[in-house]
Amino acid sequence: MTDLRAALVAACRRLDGLGFVAATDGNLSCRLGPDRLLVTPSGRSKGELEANDLLVTDLEGRVVEGDGRPSSELPMHLFVYRRRDDVGAVVHAHPPAASGFAVAGIDLTEPVMPEIVLTVGPIPLARYATPSTADVPRSLEPLIDGHQAFLLESHGVLCVGRHLTEALHRMERVEHVARVDLVARLLGRPRALSDGEVLALFDAARALRGEREP
Ligand SMILES: [Zn+2]
Repeated sequence: MTDLRAALVAACRRLDGLGFVAATDGNLSCRLGPDRLLVTPSGRSKGELEANDLLVTDLEGRVVEGDGRPSSELPMHLFVYRRRDDVGAVVHAHPPAASGFAVAGIDLTEPVMPEIVLTVGPIPLARYATPSTADVPRSLEPLIDGHQAFLLESHGVLCVGRHLTEALHRMERVEHVARVDLVARLLGRPRALSDGEVLALFDAARALRGEREP
């Protein structure tokens, strides 16, 4: 528990340091147990949070430990945990380039960079939903299964992972591929990997892990 609190605070500071969250933007959470989440509080700068500022809630969003209100985007987090047993952490931020794609209504589903294909996969665009409302989970409903990162139209980015590090790394990778994609669009046109190139990529990754062909 102490380790998870420290890890969540470190993740908040990392996002703040990277410029992925302005002012009090962004919210993060991770599972503490079957019906317990550790979540960031509402209205606080992510760069200034301390371990004791974090709140513990159940999967209904009721605060069971800590002072203050949980993030206003908690319904989005709860939706993800209820739908995805494999998810242990949820990270939401507004990184500038990826959020720019979200504002422009352009998804990042084309396989343009090998490491993104292997570690994040296609990044779809969830239709616009008023932040902090139940409309946000509804906008994720058609996409939640089978994706690890989402652009929230005219808003920002949501990433999930088995643990905090995985969700945080995915957020960094989404912003990175958005920047690269933007430069490629300025220079010409991003080249998507072919189906054969994607298959070869997964074969090579399996070989590196020492697995045999399925
Ligand atoms: Zn947001």
